[in-house]
Amino acid sequence: MQTVKLGKTDILASAFGFGGIPIIPLPGEEAVNIVRHGYDKGITFYDTANAYVDSEKKIGQALEGVREKVVIATKTGNRDADGAATHLKYSLIDLRTDYIDLYQFHNVSTETDLNLILAPGGAYETAENAQKEGKVRHIGITSHDLRTAILACKTGRFATIQFPFNFIETEPEEELFKVARDLGMGIIAMKPLGGGILDQAELCFQFLQQYPDVLPIPGFSSTQEIDQVLGFYQSPKAITVEDEKAMDALRAELGDKFCHRCGYCMPCEQGVKITEVMGYRSMAKRFSAEVAIRMTRKAMASVENCIECGECIEKCPYHIEIPEGLQFNLKLYEDLLLQTGK
Ligand code: SF4
Ligand code: SF4
Repeated sequence: MQTVKLGKTDILASAFGFGGIPIIPLPGEEAVNIVRHGYDKGITFYDTANAYVDSEKKIGQALEGVREKVVIATKTGNRDADGAATHLKYSLIDLRTDYIDLYQFHNVSTETDLNLILAPGGAYETAENAQKEGKVRHIGITSHDLRTAILACKTGRFATIQFPFNFIETEPEEELFKVARDLGMGIIAMKPLGGGILDQAELCFQFLQQYPDVLPIPGFSSTQEIDQVLGFYQSPKAITVEDEKAMDALRAELGDKFCHRCGYCMPCEQGVKITEVMGYRSMAKRFSAEVAIRMTRKAMASVENCIECGECIEKCPYHIEIPEGLQFNLKLYEDLLLQTGK
């Protein structure tokens, strides 16, 4: 397997990593077997988070015997030092390890959050202290907001940046990646398949293989998916004119409806949970029908409050026709309810 070096860190990861979200709904033994299959096939980078329910536990169990041969990245969503210390304590227990290779601050998508983390008494203090104690090797950050991500990189306090990147969401190429590279930071691409919306996995990885210093971390919910992606790396295909056309067609089709999950449209004064509803298709693809319904039920119920005032469209940097998108996803959800009789 090819490798990716994460910036100036000593982390040399397999060409693609293992994202820890899709194993959440799987029974424990099945999830552990999938993670082990990934390891057996050469995946050496595992990304999880305190927020991913029991993902850390499953990954910890699967990798216990091979800890020193893999890189484990996890995250805290807490912004204060004490909260981050609690998360770190449980991550170490659940991951069955005494050190985390990459400890990341989770979804830092506003300047306020970034400042909280870096302020005295902020979560960064915990990570820095843990680094001195050998419990954390490197400190990174993840974000869904370009401006905040660039600001975070420019502080010089983080070894890696994790950001959505796929052939629809190409914006990070313009400035974020350049800033990160200039500072010697590692770059991790979350949502390489558009959060599950992009069906053409091969096309997605053909696109990503053009960036050998960017580490994609697809999530896997079966051993077959791992083998499929591995095949793309074992027999890489150059992008043809037809592939370019297919990508352009999808960009054109999804471009004005593709929610980047930045959250700028929120809050809605009518209480509509816009980002959760707009992200429904990704949830529906990644989780079983039962889990997708359970996780989105409340958000879907909020759609009836939409009065189509259009304020969210004005706030959305991509000018997505949000009320239309809400109704579209609500219809998909209702169809699923009918199909499953839930
Ligand atoms: S259009 Fe609907 S979702 Fe958007 S801000 Fe208005 S009420 Fe909320
Ligand atoms: S609808 Fe627009 S503003 Fe809201 S999360 Fe999606 S991309 Fe961001």
